[in-house]
Order: sequence, then C-alpha cells, then structure tokens
Amino acid sequence: MSQTILRGEIGYRTTAMLPEAAQAFARCITANATRFCNVQLCVSLNTKVEKLFVRFQPVSADRQETIRHEQQEARAERALEQPFMFWKDPDNRMMTWCFSVSSGETYQVTPRDCTCPDFIYRCKDAGIKCKHMIAQRLWSSEQMARMIAQDF
Ligand SMILES: [Zn+2]
Repeated sequence: MSQTILRGEIGYRTTAMLPEAAQAFARCITANATRFCNVQLCVSLNTKVEKLFVRFQPVSADRQETIRHEQQEARAERALEQPFMFWKDPDNRMMTWCFSVSSGETYQVTPRDCTCPDFIYRCKDAGIKCKHMIAQRLWSSEQMARMIAQDF
C-alpha cells in the first residue's frame, strides 16, 4: 500500500493485482465506509495481463492532512538529496529554469508553480510544493546569502 495524490485527492493505492483480488479488496474497503471513501478500481497500464489497483481515501481530515504533510516532507528530502542546476530567467525575475541532473529534464519554476508533471498532476491541487520549487527556494536563499556576504 502506498500513499497517493492525484489532482488533489490524497489517499492510498494498492499495487496492481489480478481483477478478482482487486475487486475483493475494493469490496472490503467499501464496507468500511466510516474510515474510507472514494474507492476506485483503476486499470494498470503497465502490465501485460489485465491488472487493477484500488485507490481510496481516508474519511478523516486529520489523516489526510498527515499524508499531505508526509508527502511534502518526502519532496523536501528529494530536494536536498538530488542535484539540480538553476538559471534565473533574464526577462522574468520570478522565473527560474531548473535542470534536474538525475532525470535530464528542465522545468520552469516560480515560487507558486512548476512545469513538472508531479506538480501539475499531484502537488498543485493538494497545496504542496514539488521538489524543484523547494530546491529553487534553497538555491535562491543561498544566492542571497552569498550576495550579502560579498557586501561585507
Ligand atoms: Zn517541479
């Protein structure tokens, strides 16, 4: 079972299973209506045999908030661990280009958004920042600290 965020829906998802198993599990979760809601059977697209996984959300707003917090923390860790390179956009001072050394992708980052799929499909509607936005913030404050240090 893993945590999942999709378009602002914060909850859990199982691994892909054979349809009978997924349907049986979905029935169990659906029967626990006081704890879980929004139970969905989804087709897994990356398996040869047809497999399904189950998505569902905790009813408790506190539990959802805990997951949101853990998801934000996980992205903060990745922001610290992974190597990124940044360039300020010459025409838009709010915008930074972020090159992810590990993925080879480049994204446009502002304090409010990022063009990466994680931000667009998961973080944005859940109100959390992607790792590029966090890394950009750290980079930007390091730049600031360096400029201040040079003034003395
Ligand atoms: Zn991003």
